Amino acid sequence: MAVTHSEADKLLQIEKIGITSDLPIFPQVVIEYKSKTPMTDGKTVYLPPEINIIPTEVENILQDPNLTLYIGSLFHELGHVRYKSAEVNLKEYVESFEVPTVAEVLMQLLEDSRITGLFRTEFQDDRGKILDMTTKFFLSKIKYHTDENGDKLSPVWNFAVMLHSLLLYDKLPGHFGSRKEREEKQRYELEFLSTAITNEDLNKRNIYTVKDLLAYAYNLAKPLVTKGYTVLETAKIAKQLYDYVVKAFNINKEDKEACKQKYEEIKNQTQASCGGIPSQDVDISSTSDKPKLEDVEKNSSMKEDLRSEFVKNLERTAEQEEQAASEKPNGEQIIENIMTGYKVSPRRGEGRVSGEDVEREIDKFTSDRFKKDLVRIVLERLRQRGYSQDKLEEIGKDLVKALYE
Ligand SMILES: [Zn+2]
Repeated sequence: MAVTHSEADKLLQIEKIGITSDLPIFPQVVIEYKSKTPMTDGKTVYLPPEINIIPTEVENILQDPNLTLYIGSLFHELGHVRYKSAEVNLKEYVESFEVPTVAEVLMQLLEDSRITGLFRTEFQDDRGKILDMTTKFFLSKIKYHTDENGDKLSPVWNFAVMLHSLLLYDKLPGHFGSRKEREEKQRYELEFLSTAITNEDLNKRNIYTVKDLLAYAYNLAKPLVTKGYTVLETAKIAKQLYDYVVKAFNINKEDKEACKQKYEEIKNQTQASCGGIPSQDVDISSTSDKPKLEDVEKNSSMKEDLRSEFVKNLERTAEQEEQAASEKPNGEQIIENIMTGYKVSPRRGEGRVSGEDVEREIDKFTSDRFKKDLVRIVLERLRQRGYSQDKLEEIGKDLVKALYE
């Protein structure tokens, strides 16, 4: 059954407070239910009027996995708000490239990886899990574009999706979904990764196949997901990657218009842009009044502004974690293992996350435990904001009533 926004709103509003109450912009983040695909301009989060993606017959909306996708999509967008994706002039940045569409695809997907990584490091409770489950669910639904009618964006898009999945989970989308969904994706992934790259510059850098390029990109971008980096670092890495991708897939200025058209088409076709899938979900056009990237780079107080206290905290946590692991990202080995796994156990991948598993997991996170956590989180936030014990108890009772009755 579809979960409508009027059914979900109460929960989503509470979750919003849990994620944004300590931000200086609080309480100005608003949710509006009028966008087909979730998106944000950094102040307003746009969500669909209803979500009806997973077929289900449950009567109680709190057990409807579509509600979890609603919450997961909200978390994704709030991740962009919290980690300030839209605080710099991305419009000008993207338009400064010869082929802006390629820059935009890369920027969006790397930002999606960054904010998802930071969110799950900062919210290591059910909220991080819900965002992960939502992201994996949409990765399971992603469709690769294999048409060969001369457009040059498809490989960039497919490459971007693979990188996104690899950065977050050390897995390709071929690991997620039902058996049929996995088979389809794995077939394409094996073929795509083996595609030769004939560009001389890249060959000089030991990049001979798409697999080599993906390993390079993974090693370059992995710190975005594990360290407390800002959107500035994403922009830097996107720029570096842009040159490689344009060369690898032979994209030139004349492709610009074709790319643009194809991108629009893809966006309209795929429902997958809901949630964690690379999509145009940060409204780049709305950032034109924001400071230029290069000015922020030069001005240390602006840079500091972007790197808020919570990002510093994250960095410390991430550094500790990283020291424990203390290994350099090794994309080559990870991808090699994935491809070998596909071949040894054809079409099955690791099979750990089947479509059914994802749906079961999603179901689990709308359980009572989750609701109790929610109440606890909200009360904790309000306590930090100076609410008295009496007031907290009163609000707690109201919340329990609202959630359970
Ligand atoms: Zn996003």
